Amino acid sequence: MRAQKEATIAGQSEGRWHPVFIVNVCEESWDVEQAYAHYTVPGRKPKERFATLKVTERQISSDTGDNHLRYDMLTPREIAEDIIRQLSQEIGPDMGRGVFLSQNGKPTEDELAGAETRLVNWYKQLVEEANNEWERSRNSRMIFDLQRRAARSLGQEFEWCFDAKKLADCPGCGGKVKPNVAKCAHCGAILDRKRAEELGLIEKAKKAAEG
Ligand SMILES: [Zn+2]
Repeated sequence: MRAQKEATIAGQSEGRWHPVFIVNVCEESWDVEQAYAHYTVPGRKPKERFATLKVTERQISSDTGDNHLRYDMLTPREIAEDIIRQLSQEIGPDMGRGVFLSQNGKPTEDELAGAETRLVNWYKQLVEEANNEWERSRNSRMIFDLQRRAARSLGQEFEWCFDAKKLADCPGCGGKVKPNVAKCAHCGAILDRKRAEELGLIEKAKKAAEG
């Protein structure tokens, strides 16, 4: 009796529609606020190629205006397409946040490679925008964290990659320098003599004294 009841409930929770999967090849997780629910598409872990979000159907209610509620069912596909549409807004053609819809959670090599290419294209655009902003304002507060992470993902490094709060002033030229650097990139002033010697940036003090 009890087992039968549980089986019925389990059967109901399975839903009328097969779930679909949103695949994400980006390390970032993405939050989407829908009128009916909040969704977080998880980011992939560093050693994984992708992460997935299982999307199931959802009943939504809407006020018909005469004190009645109307109930509608959103299918998994409708919800997933809605989420992906939101995540694709304001992103140019051939670019993307790394997300796409997968019928069974086992994406094909083509799907993964395509999403990865679009993600890299988008990252490149973010970096270009940050470079333009930096040219204009030289203000690291105008640079978004996402732009910094995009540069890091592409293995690129720019002045704006570093938070101004963590930068130090060079006593030689007053320029912003990264913490713990041996030598100022702007004026060449030696900021850490011991490290500069170790790195071969300057001759050892002892040798200089001998000569
Ligand atoms: Zn300097």
